[in-house]
Amino acid sequence: MTNLPLLFDNHGREMSYLRLAVTDRCNLRCTYCMPAEGIAYLPQKKLLSWEEMLRIVHVLNQLGIRKVRITGGEPFVRPGLMDFLQELAKIENLEICLTTNGVLLENHLDSLLNLGIKNVNLSLDSLDSERFFKITRRNDFDQVYRNLMRMIEANFIVKLNAVVMHGMNETDILPLVNFTEKHPVSVRFIEEMPFNGSGLVEEKLFWDYRRILSHIKTEFPHIEEVPMAYGETSKNYHVPGFMGDVGIIAAFSRTFCGSCNRIRVTSLGQVKTCLYDDGVFDLKEYLRLGVSDEDLKNTMIKIFGERPKDGFEAENNRKGVINESMTSIGG
Ligand code: SAM
Ligand code: SF4
Repeated sequence: MTNLPLLFDNHGREMSYLRLAVTDRCNLRCTYCMPAEGIAYLPQKKLLSWEEMLRIVHVLNQLGIRKVRITGGEPFVRPGLMDFLQELAKIENLEICLTTNGVLLENHLDSLLNLGIKNVNLSLDSLDSERFFKITRRNDFDQVYRNLMRMIEANFIVKLNAVVMHGMNETDILPLVNFTEKHPVSVRFIEEMPFNGSGLVEEKLFWDYRRILSHIKTEFPHIEEVPMAYGETSKNYHVPGFMGDVGIIAAFSRTFCGSCNRIRVTSLGQVKTCLYDDGVFDLKEYLRLGVSDEDLKNTMIKIFGERPKDGFEAENNRKGVINESMTSIGG
Protein backbone atom coordinates (compact mmCIF):
# COMPACT_ATOMS: atom_id res chain seq x y z
CA MET A 1 0.00 0.00 0.00
CA THR A 2 1.22 3.47 -0.82
CA ASN A 3 2.06 5.83 1.97
CA LEU A 4 2.67 8.80 -0.26
CA PRO A 5 0.49 11.82 0.46
CA LEU A 6 -2.35 11.88 -2.05
CA LEU A 7 -4.63 14.38 -0.44
CA PHE A 8 -3.75 18.04 -0.87
CA ASP A 9 -5.97 21.05 -0.38
CA ASN A 10 -6.49 23.87 -2.87
CA HIS A 11 -3.65 25.83 -1.19
CA GLY A 12 -1.11 23.04 -1.70
CA ARG A 13 -1.19 21.86 1.91
CA GLU A 14 -0.70 18.13 2.35
CA MET A 15 -3.45 16.57 4.46
CA SER A 16 -1.81 13.89 6.56
CA TYR A 17 -3.38 14.07 10.00
CA LEU A 18 -6.88 13.02 11.08
CA ARG A 19 -8.48 14.10 14.33
CA LEU A 20 -11.37 11.79 15.07
CA ALA A 21 -13.86 12.59 17.85
CA VAL A 22 -15.24 9.22 18.93
CA THR A 23 -17.90 10.57 21.30
CA ASP A 24 -19.48 13.84 22.39
CA ARG A 25 -19.86 12.64 26.00
CA CYS A 26 -17.59 13.53 28.84
CA ASN A 27 -17.11 12.86 32.52
CA LEU A 28 -15.80 16.41 33.19
CA ARG A 29 -17.48 19.77 32.59
CA CYS A 30 -14.59 22.12 31.80
CA THR A 31 -15.91 25.68 31.82
CA TYR A 32 -14.17 26.58 28.53
CA CYS A 33 -15.69 23.54 26.79
CA MET A 34 -19.28 23.18 27.95
CA PRO A 35 -21.91 24.50 30.33
CA ALA A 36 -22.29 23.05 33.84
CA GLU A 37 -25.38 21.07 32.82
CA GLY A 38 -23.50 19.54 29.86
CA ILE A 39 -24.76 19.62 26.29
CA ALA A 40 -27.67 17.76 24.69
CA TYR A 41 -25.83 14.53 23.95
CA LEU A 42 -26.69 12.77 20.73
CA PRO A 43 -28.38 9.37 20.74
CA GLN A 44 -25.92 6.56 19.94
CA LYS A 45 -27.29 5.95 16.42
CA LYS A 46 -26.57 9.57 15.49
CA LEU A 47 -22.90 9.00 16.26
CA LEU A 48 -20.55 7.27 13.88
CA SER A 49 -20.29 3.59 14.77
CA TRP A 50 -16.89 2.02 15.49
CA GLU A 51 -17.16 0.18 12.14
CA GLU A 52 -17.83 3.42 10.28
CA MET A 53 -14.91 5.12 11.98
CA LEU A 54 -12.62 2.22 11.17
CA ARG A 55 -13.61 2.43 7.53
CA ILE A 56 -12.98 6.19 7.42
CA VAL A 57 -9.50 5.73 8.88
CA HIS A 58 -8.72 2.90 6.44
CA VAL A 59 -9.76 4.95 3.42
CA LEU A 60 -7.96 8.08 4.59
CA ASN A 61 -4.87 5.99 5.29
CA GLN A 62 -4.99 4.92 1.64
CA LEU A 63 -5.02 8.65 0.81
CA GLY A 64 -1.81 9.13 2.79
CA ILE A 65 -3.04 9.92 6.29
CA ARG A 66 -0.20 8.88 8.58
CA LYS A 67 -1.42 10.05 11.93
CA VAL A 68 -4.76 9.77 13.70
CA ARG A 69 -5.62 11.41 17.00
CA ILE A 70 -8.49 9.89 18.92
CA THR A 71 -10.33 12.56 20.85
CA GLY A 72 -13.85 13.45 21.96
CA GLY A 73 -15.65 14.24 24.34
CA GLU A 74 -13.73 11.90 26.52
CA PRO A 75 -12.71 8.89 24.40
CA PHE A 76 -12.53 6.52 27.38
CA VAL A 77 -16.21 6.99 28.26
CA ARG A 78 -17.37 5.28 25.05
CA PRO A 79 -17.57 1.51 25.56
CA GLY A 80 -15.53 -0.38 22.98
CA LEU A 81 -12.67 2.13 22.66
CA MET A 82 -9.92 -0.40 23.39
CA ASP A 83 -11.30 -2.89 20.81
CA PHE A 84 -11.41 -0.07 18.27
CA LEU A 85 -7.80 0.88 19.04
CA GLN A 86 -6.80 -2.74 18.62
CA GLU A 87 -8.26 -2.70 15.09
CA LEU A 88 -6.65 0.66 14.29
CA ALA A 89 -3.27 -0.66 15.41
CA LYS A 90 -3.41 -3.21 12.58
CA ILE A 91 -3.32 -0.45 9.95
CA GLU A 92 0.15 -0.02 8.50
CA ASN A 93 2.01 3.30 8.53
CA LEU A 94 -0.37 4.89 10.95
CA GLU A 95 0.65 6.62 14.15
CA ILE A 96 -2.13 6.54 16.76
CA CYS A 97 -2.31 9.33 19.33
CA LEU A 98 -4.87 10.09 22.02
CA THR A 99 -6.21 13.18 23.72
CA THR A 100 -7.82 12.51 27.08
CA ASN A 101 -8.66 14.16 30.38
CA GLY A 102 -6.87 11.23 32.04
CA VAL A 103 -9.58 10.35 34.58
CA LEU A 104 -10.13 6.80 33.30
CA LEU A 105 -6.62 6.01 32.05
CA GLU A 106 -5.48 3.85 34.95
CA ASN A 107 -6.73 0.47 33.71
CA HIS A 108 -5.65 0.99 30.12
CA LEU A 109 -2.01 2.02 30.26
CA ASP A 110 -0.54 -1.46 29.72
CA SER A 111 -2.92 -2.21 26.86
CA LEU A 112 -2.06 1.09 25.18
CA LEU A 113 1.64 0.30 25.38
CA ASN A 114 1.02 -3.21 24.04
CA LEU A 115 -0.71 -1.64 21.04
CA GLY A 116 2.27 0.68 20.49
CA ILE A 117 0.26 3.77 21.48
CA LYS A 118 2.67 6.02 23.34
CA ASN A 119 1.63 9.54 22.37
CA VAL A 120 -0.90 10.88 24.81
CA ASN A 121 -2.06 14.47 25.24
CA LEU A 122 -3.46 14.94 28.70
CA SER A 123 -5.56 17.98 29.52
CA LEU A 124 -4.48 19.51 32.79
CA ASP A 125 -5.12 23.22 33.24
CA SER A 126 -3.95 23.45 36.83
CA LEU A 127 -1.59 21.76 39.26
CA ASP A 128 -3.78 22.87 42.13
CA SER A 129 -6.66 20.57 43.05
CA GLU A 130 -9.04 23.39 44.03
CA ARG A 131 -8.51 25.26 40.79
CA PHE A 132 -8.81 21.97 38.89
CA PHE A 133 -12.23 21.56 40.53
CA LYS A 134 -13.24 25.12 39.63
CA ILE A 135 -12.28 24.56 36.01
CA THR A 136 -13.57 21.01 35.46
CA ARG A 137 -16.46 21.11 37.98
CA ARG A 138 -15.39 17.64 39.09
CA ASN A 139 -13.20 16.42 41.93
CA ASP A 140 -10.81 14.22 39.93
CA PHE A 141 -7.47 16.00 40.32
CA ASP A 142 -5.78 13.27 42.37
CA GLN A 143 -6.80 10.57 39.92
CA VAL A 144 -5.60 12.56 36.90
CA TYR A 145 -2.30 13.51 38.55
CA ARG A 146 -1.65 9.90 39.58
CA ASN A 147 -2.30 8.75 36.02
CA LEU A 148 0.02 11.44 34.68
CA MET A 149 2.79 10.16 36.95
CA ARG A 150 2.12 6.57 35.90
CA MET A 151 2.42 7.57 32.26
CA ILE A 152 5.69 9.37 32.83
CA GLU A 153 7.10 6.35 34.68
CA ALA A 154 5.99 4.07 31.83
CA ASN A 155 7.78 6.32 29.28
CA PHE A 156 4.73 7.56 27.43
CA ILE A 157 5.34 10.65 25.29
CA VAL A 158 3.19 13.06 27.23
CA LYS A 159 1.94 16.49 26.28
CA LEU A 160 0.02 18.44 28.89
CA ASN A 161 -2.65 20.70 27.39
CA ALA A 162 -3.49 23.75 29.48
CA VAL A 163 -6.05 26.30 28.28
CA VAL A 164 -5.12 29.71 29.72
CA MET A 165 -8.14 31.55 31.10
CA HIS A 166 -8.29 35.10 32.38
CA GLY A 167 -9.12 35.21 36.09
CA MET A 168 -9.02 31.42 36.36
CA ASN A 169 -5.62 29.76 35.98
CA GLU A 170 -3.01 32.34 35.03
CA THR A 171 -1.35 31.56 38.38
CA ASP A 172 -0.70 28.08 36.95
CA ILE A 173 1.41 29.24 34.01
CA LEU A 174 4.73 29.46 35.87
CA PRO A 175 4.24 26.30 38.00
CA LEU A 176 3.42 24.38 34.82
CA VAL A 177 6.63 25.62 33.18
CA ASN A 178 8.48 24.65 36.34
CA PHE A 179 6.95 21.18 36.14
CA THR A 180 9.07 20.59 33.01
CA GLU A 181 12.26 20.91 35.06
CA LYS A 182 12.01 17.43 36.56
CA HIS A 183 9.50 15.82 34.20
CA PRO A 184 10.07 14.97 30.52
CA VAL A 185 6.74 16.33 29.28
CA SER A 186 5.72 19.10 26.89
CA VAL A 187 3.40 21.59 28.50
CA ARG A 188 1.35 23.34 25.85
CA PHE A 189 -0.50 26.51 26.73
CA ILE A 190 -3.56 26.92 24.52
CA GLU A 191 -5.30 30.20 23.79
CA GLU A 192 -8.94 29.92 24.83
CA MET A 193 -11.30 29.55 21.87
CA PRO A 194 -15.02 30.38 21.83
CA PHE A 195 -16.19 26.73 21.66
CA ASN A 196 -17.78 26.54 25.10
CA GLY A 197 -21.33 25.85 23.99
CA SER A 198 -22.58 29.27 25.17
CA GLY A 199 -22.73 31.15 21.88
CA LEU A 200 -20.74 34.01 23.44
CA VAL A 201 -17.66 35.00 21.46
CA GLU A 202 -15.07 37.34 22.94
CA GLU A 203 -13.78 39.94 20.49
CA LYS A 204 -10.42 40.12 22.16
CA LEU A 205 -8.45 37.57 24.08
CA PHE A 206 -6.54 38.67 27.17
CA TRP A 207 -4.13 35.71 27.38
CA ASP A 208 -3.00 35.57 23.79
CA TYR A 209 0.23 33.84 22.77
CA ARG A 210 2.31 37.03 23.14
CA ARG A 211 1.14 37.70 26.68
CA ILE A 212 1.64 34.05 27.69
CA LEU A 213 5.22 34.14 26.40
CA SER A 214 6.14 37.44 28.01
CA HIS A 215 4.68 36.21 31.30
CA ILE A 216 6.83 33.06 31.10
CA LYS A 217 9.88 35.23 30.37
CA THR A 218 9.42 37.18 33.61
CA GLU A 219 10.51 34.05 35.47
CA PHE A 220 12.45 32.23 32.75
CA PRO A 221 14.27 34.98 30.78
CA HIS A 222 16.66 32.45 29.22
CA ILE A 223 13.97 30.29 27.66
CA GLU A 224 14.99 29.31 24.12
CA GLU A 225 12.85 28.92 21.04
CA VAL A 226 12.84 25.44 19.46
CA PRO A 227 12.31 25.24 15.65
CA MET A 228 8.74 24.40 14.67
CA ALA A 229 8.11 21.22 12.64
CA TYR A 230 5.89 21.47 9.52
CA GLY A 231 2.21 21.12 10.39
CA GLU A 232 2.79 21.83 14.06
CA THR A 233 0.42 24.26 15.76
CA SER A 234 2.55 24.82 18.80
CA LYS A 235 5.44 27.27 18.95
CA ASN A 236 7.90 25.56 21.25
CA TYR A 237 10.41 26.67 23.87
CA HIS A 238 12.86 25.06 26.23
CA VAL A 239 14.32 26.26 29.49
CA PRO A 240 18.04 25.28 29.46
CA GLY A 241 18.64 22.34 31.78
CA PHE A 242 14.97 21.34 32.04
CA MET A 243 13.89 17.82 31.05
CA GLY A 244 10.70 18.83 29.28
CA ASP A 245 9.63 21.73 27.12
CA VAL A 246 6.92 24.30 26.70
CA GLY A 247 4.68 25.19 23.77
CA ILE A 248 2.14 27.90 23.04
CA ILE A 249 -0.76 27.22 20.69
CA ALA A 250 -2.24 30.38 19.16
CA ALA A 251 -5.58 28.69 18.62
CA PHE A 252 -7.59 31.93 18.82
CA SER A 253 -5.03 34.12 17.01
CA ARG A 254 -4.67 31.47 14.30
CA THR A 255 -1.05 32.09 13.34
CA PHE A 256 -0.39 28.55 12.09
CA CYS A 257 -3.04 28.04 9.39
CA GLY A 258 -0.47 28.21 6.56
CA SER A 259 0.78 24.70 7.29
CA CYS A 260 -2.39 23.11 8.69
CA ASN A 261 -2.51 19.43 7.71
CA ARG A 262 -5.57 18.45 9.79
CA ILE A 263 -8.78 16.74 8.80
CA ARG A 264 -11.40 16.74 11.53
CA VAL A 265 -14.26 14.28 11.77
CA THR A 266 -16.71 15.00 14.58
CA SER A 267 -18.56 12.35 16.57
CA LEU A 268 -21.65 13.18 14.52
CA GLY A 269 -19.69 12.40 11.36
CA GLN A 270 -19.26 15.95 10.10
CA VAL A 271 -16.07 16.67 8.17
CA LYS A 272 -14.40 19.91 9.17
CA THR A 273 -11.66 21.31 6.97
CA CYS A 274 -10.99 23.88 9.69
CA LEU A 275 -11.68 24.05 13.43
CA TYR A 276 -13.60 27.29 12.82
CA ASP A 277 -15.98 26.02 10.12
CA ASP A 278 -19.40 24.67 11.09
CA GLY A 279 -18.99 21.31 9.39
CA VAL A 280 -18.75 21.13 5.62
CA PHE A 281 -19.94 17.61 4.85
CA ASP A 282 -22.09 14.94 6.49
CA LEU A 283 -19.89 11.86 6.19
CA LYS A 284 -22.18 9.69 8.30
CA GLU A 285 -25.22 10.15 6.05
CA TYR A 286 -22.98 9.69 3.01
CA LEU A 287 -21.56 6.39 4.29
CA ARG A 288 -25.05 5.18 5.14
CA LEU A 289 -26.05 5.61 1.48
CA GLY A 290 -23.80 2.62 0.77
CA VAL A 291 -21.05 4.44 -1.14
CA SER A 292 -17.85 2.66 -2.24
CA ASP A 293 -14.35 3.38 -0.90
CA GLU A 294 -13.52 4.97 -4.25
CA ASP A 295 -16.52 7.34 -3.91
CA LEU A 296 -15.39 8.20 -0.41
CA LYS A 297 -11.85 8.99 -1.57
CA ASN A 298 -13.06 11.19 -4.42
CA THR A 299 -15.43 13.02 -2.10
CA MET A 300 -12.65 13.76 0.39
CA ILE A 301 -10.46 15.03 -2.45
CA LYS A 302 -13.30 17.31 -3.58
CA ILE A 303 -14.02 18.61 -0.06
CA PHE A 304 -10.38 19.54 0.51
CA GLY A 305 -10.22 21.12 -2.92
CA GLU A 306 -12.56 23.82 -1.59
CA ARG A 307 -10.86 24.58 1.70
CA PRO A 308 -10.69 28.11 3.13
CA LYS A 309 -7.16 29.42 3.38
CA ASP A 310 -7.34 30.07 7.11
CA GLY A 311 -9.50 30.03 10.22
CA PHE A 312 -10.73 33.59 9.65
CA GLU A 313 -12.06 32.76 6.21
CA ALA A 314 -13.61 29.55 7.59
CA GLU A 315 -15.31 31.51 10.38
CA ASN A 316 -16.66 34.05 7.86
CA ASN A 317 -18.10 31.23 5.76
CA ARG A 318 -20.14 29.85 8.67
CA LYS A 319 -23.88 29.82 8.37
CA GLY A 320 -24.36 30.76 12.01
CA VAL A 321 -22.42 32.14 14.97
CA ILE A 322 -20.11 29.87 16.95
CA ASN A 323 -22.29 28.19 19.57
CA GLU A 324 -21.01 24.63 19.60
CA SER A 325 -19.06 22.92 22.33
CA MET A 326 -15.54 21.59 21.84
CA THR A 327 -16.76 18.28 23.24
CA SER A 328 -18.51 17.54 19.94
CA ILE A 329 -15.60 18.80 17.81
CA GLY A 330 -12.64 17.17 19.50
CA GLY A 331 -10.24 20.11 19.80
N1 SAM B 1 -11.75 15.16 26.78
C1 SAM B 1 -10.46 15.15 26.22
C2 SAM B 1 -9.59 16.19 26.83
O1 SAM B 1 -10.09 17.10 27.49
O2 SAM B 1 -8.38 16.10 26.64
C3 SAM B 1 -10.45 15.27 24.71
C4 SAM B 1 -11.40 16.24 24.09
S1 SAM B 1 -11.08 17.95 24.43
C5 SAM B 1 -12.40 18.72 23.56
C6 SAM B 1 -9.64 18.23 23.42
C7 SAM B 1 -8.84 19.45 23.76
O3 SAM B 1 -9.61 20.60 23.47
C8 SAM B 1 -8.44 19.55 25.22
O4 SAM B 1 -7.05 19.66 25.33
C9 SAM B 1 -9.10 20.81 25.71
O5 SAM B 1 -8.31 21.50 26.62
C10 SAM B 1 -9.26 21.59 24.42
N2 SAM B 1 -10.32 22.57 24.48
C11 SAM B 1 -11.62 22.37 24.78
N3 SAM B 1 -12.32 23.53 24.74
C12 SAM B 1 -11.43 24.49 24.42
C13 SAM B 1 -11.54 25.90 24.22
N4 SAM B 1 -12.70 26.55 24.36
N5 SAM B 1 -10.42 26.58 23.89
C14 SAM B 1 -9.24 25.94 23.75
N6 SAM B 1 -9.08 24.61 23.91
C15 SAM B 1 -10.16 23.89 24.24
FE1 SF4 C 1 -14.52 17.01 28.68
FE2 SF4 C 1 -12.26 17.45 27.42
FE3 SF4 C 1 -14.31 19.16 27.20
FE4 SF4 C 1 -13.02 19.01 29.49
S1 SF4 C 1 -12.15 19.67 27.54
S2 SF4 C 1 -15.25 19.00 29.24
S3 SF4 C 1 -12.48 16.91 29.59
S4 SF4 C 1 -14.25 17.09 26.45
